[in-house]
Amino acid sequence: MIILKNYINGALAAPTNNKYIDGYEPATGKVYTQIPDSVDADVQLAVDAATKAFPIWSNLSNLERSKYLRKISELIEKKLPELAKAESVDNGKPLKLASSVDIPRAVDNFHFFATAIEHFASESHFMEQTAINYTLRRPIGVVGCISPWNLPLYLFTWKIAPALATGNCVVAKPSEITPMTAYLLSEICIEAGLPAGVLNILHGTGPNVGSAIVSHPKIKAISFTGGTSTGKNIASIAAPMFKKLSLELGGKNPNIIFEDCDFDAMLKTTVHSSFANQGQICLCGSRIFVQKSIYEKFKNAFVEKVSQLKIGDPLTDVNIGAVVSKAHQEKILSYIQLAKEEGGNILFGGNKFIPNDERCREGYFVEPTIIENLDYRCRTNQEEIFGPVVTITPFDTEEEVLTMANSTEYGLASSIWTNNLQKAHRVAERIESGIVWVNCWLLRDLRTPFGGVKSSGVGREGGWEALRFFTEPKNVCIKY
Ligand code: NDP
Repeated sequence: MIILKNYINGALAAPTNNKYIDGYEPATGKVYTQIPDSVDADVQLAVDAATKAFPIWSNLSNLERSKYLRKISELIEKKLPELAKAESVDNGKPLKLASSVDIPRAVDNFHFFATAIEHFASESHFMEQTAINYTLRRPIGVVGCISPWNLPLYLFTWKIAPALATGNCVVAKPSEITPMTAYLLSEICIEAGLPAGVLNILHGTGPNVGSAIVSHPKIKAISFTGGTSTGKNIASIAAPMFKKLSLELGGKNPNIIFEDCDFDAMLKTTVHSSFANQGQICLCGSRIFVQKSIYEKFKNAFVEKVSQLKIGDPLTDVNIGAVVSKAHQEKILSYIQLAKEEGGNILFGGNKFIPNDERCREGYFVEPTIIENLDYRCRTNQEEIFGPVVTITPFDTEEEVLTMANSTEYGLASSIWTNNLQKAHRVAERIESGIVWVNCWLLRDLRTPFGGVKSSGVGREGGWEALRFFTEPKNVCIKY
């Protein structure tokens, strides 16, 4: 049994109450870790350590901070196989996905922000013959970073790296469901010689540790990724305290397929955008809209391709592993039941999956599921399921598909498949989402603004946006 520890003031520490939570391996359904069930007292220790470290860390030069971040990036890269296996075991995702996407991206996150801070500059505004204004951008102080379970180290480092690069000290919490790689990151930070208190990682539940971070008066900004209802709750506590807030929330992303697309390229990517990471990526295209003239062709080809996906033990060569928890498996299955009640026709999947091998018989698997014949306004098409479940819906015109695509409360990401340039620009402009991919999916440039509109979030991550979020601008006006 692996017993995790918090990382406070540069050292690993047991929770003050000495209480632990069971951590499960989703592929087997068995407990394999003990996770600190931290409370307010642990948050206080972390805030004290971060407050003490802040004057020193924030006064290092950008280059000096950058060196620490590069070192962490190098160590993550060096330990890639170990971290990828830990991520796969902890989350249920295929090992090959963790090895090719999750951990390489954590390496990139630290490397990207280590170099970005060296190029970050602030504005100056010249007033003819009167004065010059320049903007100072200083770190905020102690900030909180809270991340979800679907891309554990990937999203955790996406927040921590820009916060540290800009000179803030951090109190961070990974999801209690997938804390393993965040714990391993603590060991890496110790090995990298990161000064004590600069980064503190606390394990425990959202209601205990998460809300203690959000409501702590000395934590001046919160960067959160997770569900929309949790985001709402966090905003209700943080906003009256005038904390800076960045909220990356849920999605119900449309994938719009026009008859004039490159069919083969679209089909290959659509299988991926529907079921990668068991559909548990906030950017997955869960509502697929297909122009009527190619609807039947798409439906048959899509079902055929999805039927070839291998599902099973994530540590073997599979396309689909386990979903993250029993509760989540039950939630997904309940949505498939709801889809049936709403008149949906299950074209493929629709059930719990039980692998043949003994090791995974109690694991949390769900078949990739394709549903048609649902009204775009029904709950299945409006609420986030966050699993390997997609609906397909035919459409006639651009106008009609835009109405359907824009009908949900969400607005995170979207995909458009067409070879008509004017149409691509028109639809991209009118679609209500923070991210639009044309003839691709999840093609990421870390410099671009990342985030959603409507109930998918507030603020943007990525590139300068992240560095601006984690700094306070101050205008200095000098009269001639
Ligand atoms: P949750 O909102 O349940 O949890 C996210 C994090 O917040 C976890 O660390 C959780 O802790 C913590 N938390 C829970 N309650 C509170 C609270 N009251 N105060 C402070 N922190 C709290 O999301 P999930 O982990 O279930 O992640 C899935 C969701 O994340 C989906 O909706 C998905 O769309 C969204 N997401 C959005 C992304 C984006 O970029 N927009 C990217 C990836 C995911 P714990 O789990 O330990 O209880």
